[in-house]
Amino acid sequence: MMLDQILLLYGIQPDEYQIEQFGDGLINHTWKVTTLSEAYILQQVNHHIFRSPFTIDQNISKLKSFLNKNHPEYIFVSPLPSLSGLTLVRTDQGYFRLFTFIYNSHSLNVLTKKEEAYEAARQFGKFCRLLSDFKADELGITLPDFHNLGLRYQQFLHACENASTEKKAKAANCISFVLENRDIVTTFEELTINKEIPLRVIHHDTKISNVLFDSEQKGICVIDLDTVMPGYFISDVGDMMRTYLSAASEEEKDFSKIEIRPDFFKAVCDGYLQEMGSVLTEKEKGYFNYAGKFIIFMQAIRFLNDYLENDRYYGKKYEDHNLNRAVNQITLLRKFQHIETDLQIMPDY
Ligand code: ATP
Ligand code: MG
Repeated sequence: MMLDQILLLYGIQPDEYQIEQFGDGLINHTWKVTTLSEAYILQQVNHHIFRSPFTIDQNISKLKSFLNKNHPEYIFVSPLPSLSGLTLVRTDQGYFRLFTFIYNSHSLNVLTKKEEAYEAARQFGKFCRLLSDFKADELGITLPDFHNLGLRYQQFLHACENASTEKKAKAANCISFVLENRDIVTTFEELTINKEIPLRVIHHDTKISNVLFDSEQKGICVIDLDTVMPGYFISDVGDMMRTYLSAASEEEKDFSKIEIRPDFFKAVCDGYLQEMGSVLTEKEKGYFNYAGKFIIFMQAIRFLNDYLENDRYYGKKYEDHNLNRAVNQITLLRKFQHIETDLQIMPDY
């Protein structure tokens, strides 16, 4: 791909830069661009997933003005303007943006230490706290119904109706589990439809690779702001629980390796509440553990739906891949439910 023309839009000449593919992001295309004096991240936005890249760009620009005014010391990774002042450029090759490469930073692809869980949870909490006075409904929706558990459940019922008898037989235990745990959906609907917990500015993709760390392994800031939109704190806390508490990932096929690590739970709690403890309502705090159930259940349903619907969303690398992923997430949820009463947030938050 010819990136010379794109970089020229930012005043970077073809003979003055070096470029390499960067990171292991799954959604966008990312490169590191180095000149004699600067380092940048160049990104091509995946507009098949994000149908409206300009909505993302407008969201980031609104948040940037708010943070510049209210929290100017915060490192907010937002796209640089091109020579003509655009923070998202559209060419016949797609949608592109350029960021300053945050000096001395790196990201982690796998989380191994509870200190990393603490730092990451703290950064996602800090992001939400600094934006807690920003009116969330001023942001556009970049992925409609992304964490709408009610809809995912409806889609599950529909997928069951349409799936082959063979697939339904193979997935019978998973299907029963989802039906038996419908109360997780009911709770979500009560909380949101009755507005029992507030809409906030939520990151919605709290995986460990979306936090930048410094050389002392302290968190610097969060990145990957494409999914930042109005939502509920249970999305961010829940996805950290889903992805930080077990040493085995959602790809693990040996389900006996799936364990909830209580010290990692404490790290997520401490890190997040260090920042958000004074912001969350008492009602929200009462649903802290529910966050884990909410997201793990939703992810189990999404994998199961994809299995029943012939892997059209996640794809598969081997036979029954999405069924295995669903069983993996159900195992994780069972373990979480099993020790839930031992996992309590500290009373001093
Ligand atoms: P995902 O698969 O999580 O959706 P993505 O494709 O959207 O990822 P990003 O998470 O935005 O891509 O970026 C990919 C990687 O590039 C990050 O994990 C990080 O290592 C690096 N990166 C992104 N922005 C910066 C930056 N401003 N400074 C330094 N490194 C960065
Ligand atoms: Mg990322």
